[in-house]
This record gives sequence, structure tokens and C-alpha cells, in this order.
Amino acid sequence: MRWSIGLLAVLVQVGSVAAQEPPYDLVIRGGRIVDGTGNPWFTADVAIRGERIVAVGKLAGAQGNREIDATGLVVAPGFIDMHSHSDLLLLEDGHAQSKIRQGVTTEILGEGSSAGPYKGKLDPQKVTVGGKELTWTTLGGYVKALEESQTAVNVASYVGLDNVWQGAMGKSFERPTPAQFDEMKSLLDEAMRDGAFGLSTMLAMPPGSLATTDDLVELSNVVAKHGGIYSTHNRNEGSGVFDAIREAIAVGERAAVPVDIIHVKIADQKLWDRMNEIVALIEAARARGVNVQTNVYPYTRGNNNLASIIPPWAHEGGKAKLLARLKDPEARGRMKRDIQAGLPGWYNHYTAVGGDWSRMLISGKGQWEGLTMDRVLALRSQGKSPTPEPLDVLFDLLIDEGGSVPTVYAHHTEDDMRLALSQPWCSIGSDGSAYAIEGPLRRGNPHPRNFGTFPRVLGVYVRETGVLKLEDAVRKMTSLNANKLGIADRGQVRPGLFADLSLFDPAKVIDQATYEKPFAYNVGIEYVLVNGQVVLDRGQHTGALPGKVLRHAQVGAKP
Ligand SMILES: [Zn+2]
Repeated sequence: MRWSIGLLAVLVQVGSVAAQEPPYDLVIRGGRIVDGTGNPWFTADVAIRGERIVAVGKLAGAQGNREIDATGLVVAPGFIDMHSHSDLLLLEDGHAQSKIRQGVTTEILGEGSSAGPYKGKLDPQKVTVGGKELTWTTLGGYVKALEESQTAVNVASYVGLDNVWQGAMGKSFERPTPAQFDEMKSLLDEAMRDGAFGLSTMLAMPPGSLATTDDLVELSNVVAKHGGIYSTHNRNEGSGVFDAIREAIAVGERAAVPVDIIHVKIADQKLWDRMNEIVALIEAARARGVNVQTNVYPYTRGNNNLASIIPPWAHEGGKAKLLARLKDPEARGRMKRDIQAGLPGWYNHYTAVGGDWSRMLISGKGQWEGLTMDRVLALRSQGKSPTPEPLDVLFDLLIDEGGSVPTVYAHHTEDDMRLALSQPWCSIGSDGSAYAIEGPLRRGNPHPRNFGTFPRVLGVYVRETGVLKLEDAVRKMTSLNANKLGIADRGQVRPGLFADLSLFDPAKVIDQATYEKPFAYNVGIEYVLVNGQVVLDRGQHTGALPGKVLRHAQVGAKP
């Protein structure tokens, strides 16, 4: 008797608490929670109030103003895209269609260049959006413009070395004077105070390639003071890739900053299938206390430009100078020799694909779009006698196209990519931008990773090939990236954190974009929430723009 009275009292108490509680804004029922930590999935309900997750568990007695039945779906944290180029596209269209539809809720921006600063010897950045001209000089100015125009996704940015370098040096390839170097450091310091998460570099081409390892260490010392990270597209992904990985590790070790190597790969036929050696270098560094990690995109071809086949010295002084050199017979002779033989420290896309023109696919808009370079060479050489040398045809093509032809290079292997992907410190970054299949952001012939990176990992590398366990794949898209950056309040399904969530059907999720037909959304991503608001609702974009700019200094601050 005492027992049943006690039980009754408990029931009454629970009932009365539930009655006093106002309903939640949203309850997601019965999903398979993959919480982002790598822990095994469990079934639970998720309750959201305002921008935050407030409860995870059996919430049968609770009500939501809206309820989503997640039976059969995985409820994961919103994906954090560790390497995004959406900077300017988000100002054009804040809906971030191709990212939201992958389940991405936060984009990390910045590589060689970032959206700011544009100061010193760099002119202020001017962008016309919807007939309105926007101008800014600092990274803070860019994020303010973004906050005003609003986005569906959250956004965080690094500060790019190119902006800092050219702010002090302009287009010069000279060594910086001590005063110029101080100017770089102060530009970097200002951007870090504006909320940058660290310094990002692209060292394979000028101006980034002008920076020495010592320069990078000295600049990273500024980053270390702010608790930021060093993120790098390393100096050479081809014949010099092992030294380039060693350099990235050295910067981290000497400046005591965490390092994230962007889209780690081996992009030279001669070194294919030696990813195990990169893994060994990173493991050895980690074992002695250097926090080096990487990200990867789940494809084996990379976007670049035919102009990257032209040696660095021919780019000095900008495009007009490049075009003049392309027309100069003497310079052409020197370029040919350098392209064929290579130059120390230069990552040469031509030798990277073993001189195989069929491994280069033109992606830029225009008459050559969608053709591989062997076809372009054949078409441009037709009827000419004697048949011109391929490199001469390349030079002429570049002259005709103003010095730039966006190109996809088939330059690394599936085995290397999978080995990198399966390392515990390797996370997912698309290296893509927020495009759309309709409207002005349906543009050019972009790499399919812009549309399909995250569903491809879940569909191909979890479900179809089993390279990754579901929980581990989700970790690589969520908490691993949040941890790298020090974002404490996102990246997990946990009470108290921001309600960034991706709900997908694990039996169906897959990418649809291909190199030939990149403008295709995915299958199986059903709901996406950003800061508690539903942005993707049964596969449809709601038009909501609840994204926030994340600033490094504010990360983890109490609401
Ligand atoms: Zn890159």
C-alpha cells in the first residue's frame, strides 16, 4: 500500500511539472540520434526552445508547438564544412542552397585569400549585390555586410595570408622589409580581433608561395597569441608533398599553434599510393605533442586553372604581365622548359597528372566547357600544319581566355583519399561554395563537391563501401571540426548547445552531382535546422535565414 501511494505521488508530481512547462518550440520524435561525438546511436526525442537544444531523451509527456516525426531518420548535429569558399556567394544569395541541402549548417571560410582585410596596398573590396554596391576594408567589415544581408548558414572565417601579404607588399615579389613585415603582423592581429579563427594559407602559388617557413612561423606567433589555428593548403601537393607536410608540421611545432592541413592529397602520379607516409609523419608529430590534423573532400579530382601550369615567375606583376609573357617567344621557350622539367618547390599540375591532357577537364564557362584538354588541343590544332606543340596551343588558349581557364585535374587516387579519410584526425571539408541549381548561382561547371560532399560521404563511404562507420563519419562532419576551431557550443546533439541539426535517411542519403552534371541536389537529407529554425523542411528550403556569424573571441561565450 505504501508503495502504490509513493508511486502515485511521483506520478502526480511529474504530471504537474509537465503541466506548468510551456510547450517546447519544436520536438523531434523518435529519431536515431548520432550525437556527433562518435558514440553509438540511440533512439530519443530532441526538444528545442528558441535557438537551443533543451532536452534529449524520452519526452513522451512533453509537447512541442511543432513536432517532427523522425522515425527512420538519423538526427545528427548540423554539418560544419571545414573548408568553404562561399564568402562572396553568400552575399549574393544567403539561402546557401547547395550547402543547406547537404545538411551543412556552418561554413568555415578562407584559404589563400579571405573576405578581408583589403587594406594598405590592397584596394577596398567592392561587390555589387542586387544593384547595391557594398564596400569594406576589414574582415569585420565583411562579416558586418553578411550579417546585414543574412544567411541560412552560420559562418566563420580565417584570415587569408594573401590579403595580409599583399596589403603590405602589393603585387611585388620582393622580400618584405622589416617594416612591411610588421605591417603584415598588424593586419593579421586586427583580423584576429575581428573574430578570425586563425591564419589560412595557400602556398602553392604566389603570393602565398613567397612566404618562407620562417615567415609563416612568425605570422603564426600572432595567431598563437589569440588562440587561433593555422590552416594550410600546403606548398606542394605533388612531387614535393612530403616536404610540404613537414613544413606544415614545423609551423605548428615552432609557433605552438594547432594545424589543419586543407584537402590533404597526393597529387602526383609518381607518388600515388604513398598516403601511408603522410599518415606516419602526422602520427609522429602528434606523438610528440604537435596538434596536426587534416581535412579532405571525398573526390579524387581537384579544381584549379590551366594558368597553374604556367610557372610562378611568369605570373609576377599580375594578369597583364602574364599575358604579355605568353605572347613573348623567348618567355614561351623558358616556360616550356620549366613546365616539362619542373622547378624546385613549384607544384606543377602538368607533371602532377603525368602530362596526361585527358586528366584535365575544362570547367570554366565558354566554348570549351565540359571538354577534356586532349579534345581541346585536337580541336584547336585541326587543319594546322605542322601540328602545333600542345604547350603552344595551351599558351594561345590562355591568351584568348584572358589568362584564366578553370579546370578540374584528375590528380589523386581513391586509395590515398580513403586512407586519409579514415584517419581519426581527418575531417570533412568540401572546398566548395554555396551554389544553386537555379538562378544566378547556377554558374559555370563547378566541381560536384559544391553540391554533394556530405551526402557522398554518408552514401558512398558509410553505406555502400563501409570505409567509415556512420557515427564516425558524422563525428568528422561535426564535433571534430568544432573542436579544431574551439567552437564549444555547436557540433553535438546535447542540451544547452545551439540547435543546428541535420536529419537524414541513412538508407537513402546519396549525392547526385557529377563532373558532367554538377547542378544536382541530393537524396535523403530531409530536415535541416539552424539556430532552432527549420531551413530545410521535408527536402524543401523554407527561405529562413537564421545563420549567425561566429567570431573567434565570442566562441563558447554564454548566451
Ligand atoms: Zn585549396
